[in-house]
Amino acid sequence: MKLPHAVRLREVGPRDGFQSLKTVIPTERKLEVIEAVLRAGVSEVEAVSFASTRALPQFWDAPQVMARLPRGRAVLSAMVFNAEGARQALDAGAGRLVTVVSASEAHNRANVKRSIGASLGALEGIFRAAAQEKVPVTGAVAVAFGCPFQGDVPREDVFRIAEAFFSKGAHGLILADTTGMATPDRVEKMVVEFRECFGPVELILHFHNNRGTAMANLLAAMIAGATTFDTALGGLGGCPYVPRAAGNIPTEDAAYMLEAMGVNTGIDLEAVLTAARRLEAIVGEPLPGQVMKSGSADPSPRP
Ligand code: ZN
Repeated sequence: MKLPHAVRLREVGPRDGFQSLKTVIPTERKLEVIEAVLRAGVSEVEAVSFASTRALPQFWDAPQVMARLPRGRAVLSAMVFNAEGARQALDAGAGRLVTVVSASEAHNRANVKRSIGASLGALEGIFRAAAQEKVPVTGAVAVAFGCPFQGDVPREDVFRIAEAFFSKGAHGLILADTTGMATPDRVEKMVVEFRECFGPVELILHFHNNRGTAMANLLAAMIAGATTFDTALGGLGGCPYVPRAAGNIPTEDAAYMLEAMGVNTGIDLEAVLTAARRLEAIVGEPLPGQVMKSGSADPSPRP
C-alpha cells in the first residue's frame, strides 16, 4: 500500500462539533477541550465560528474563546461568513480564516440563508480584511460529494467554487462531504481530478460519517495523494442543516489507524484519548469515537 510518511489532521470538533449541540457549552469548558487537544499535538484547531448569535447561538463567546486560547505552534482557525465576522476573528487573533460556500444552491440557502452568488460576493470583503493582517484564508466547498436536497453535485459546480476561492488568493481548499454521501472510489477520482485542475495547492478533505464511509474515504484520499484531513474529537458533530447529520471522523480514531500504519500524525494517542473522554463527559452523552471505548491496541491478555 502506497502511504505518505506523514499527514496533517485539522481538529474541527470545537467548531463543527459544538455547532451541532443544542445546549451552549460554557466558555471555560470549550477552552478546556481545545487546550487538551492542543496538548495532544494537533497542528491546527478550527476553534470557533464567527456567525450571528441568532444563527449560531453556540458561538456567542467566539471572540473570548479565540482571544483566550494559548498561542503556540498550532494554528488557531475561525470560520467566518462575511467581512464583519472576518474582522472580529482577526481582532481576536485568529491565525487562519475558513469560509464556506456550498456547491448546491439549496444547501447554501439552508446553511447561510443566501444564494451561492451572494456568498461568492462576500468573499471579496473577507479576503481583503485577512490580507490586511497577512492572515491566510482557506476556502471550503460544502456538499462537494452530494447534497441532501439536490442529490448528485456536478464536479463542475464544485470546481467553479474552488476556482472562485483561488482567484481571491485562498491558501488551501477544503472539499467537504457535509452529508456523508461520498464513497472511496469517488473520493479517489475527486482527488486525482482536483490535482489535475489545480496543481499542488493545499487540499483538505472533510468527511462526515453519516453512512459509515468516512474512514474508508480518508484512506482512499490518502492513497490518492491527499495528506490533510479534518477530524473531530470523539466524532462529535454534524451540519445543523443536514437531516440526521453525523460527525466527522473521530480525531483519535484517525490518529490510531494512521500511526498503527506508520503514518506520522504528530498526535499523542493517549493525550488525544484523554481529551476525547473529557469532551464526552462535558457533552454528557456517548460520542461515536471507537478507540476511546476499546482503548488503543494493547498486547496485555484480556481478563
Ligand atoms: Zn462539517
